[in-house]
Amino acid sequence: MTDSNKVREILLAIGEKIQQQKDYLTELDQPIGDSDHGINLARGFEAVKQKAPSMEGQDIGTILKNAGMILVSTVGGASGPLYGSALMKAGIAMAGKTEMGPEDFLHMMEVAIEAVKQRGKAIEGEATMLDAMSPSLRAMKTAYEEGKDISAMLAEGVRASWAGAEHTKDLVATKGRASYVGERGLGHQDPGATSYSYMLEVVAEVIG
Ligand code: ADP
Ligand code: MG
Repeated sequence: MTDSNKVREILLAIGEKIQQQKDYLTELDQPIGDSDHGINLARGFEAVKQKAPSMEGQDIGTILKNAGMILVSTVGGASGPLYGSALMKAGIAMAGKTEMGPEDFLHMMEVAIEAVKQRGKAIEGEATMLDAMSPSLRAMKTAYEEGKDISAMLAEGVRASWAGAEHTKDLVATKGRASYVGERGLGHQDPGATSYSYMLEVVAEVIG
């Protein structure tokens, strides 16, 4: 499905996508947060890009763990430690591996999402990135179990992720800054669920 070089390529491509969507992600964070989500992630992934040359030749686990540590240390907002923990735990799941198959991938995603739940003390339904992450993982697992190929599996994941992001408009946030605005947040799409959907889209573009 993928190897160390591709994982590095994905991280760089995510950085580019975030850079392209930086203003939009920041705009989404305006009515329900503090207008910094795009800026936060762009800063984090720019730091990952700076360190990318030193990741050459590393195994998948090490690359993901290092990228996670960079996000934790460079992103000021909540999303840094959340995405950072996800990548660090994903890195532990992939320790020593230079190739990744679909089962490794699904296991890694499961572990990464679990890390976000633990770190954020959040569950699905609270209008966070988890509302894109969890349904997309379910969709990918189902697709895999149905014998769909990797491209189709990822495409289903991306579709479910965007549907989940869209659905955050109907949820009252109970975690993170958006919880401060309560019901006034209704109708607004969660920035983190949106950034996650872009990230998964990149994974699908590079691998699929
Ligand atoms: P901050 O909220 O600190 O300004 P960002 O704007 O970068 O950080 O990120 C906000 C996003 O982080 C939200 O849109 C949401 O998806 C996610 N988030 C915030 N708090 C939590 C949490 N406790 N659990 C899961 N996700 C969270
Ligand atoms: Mg913010």
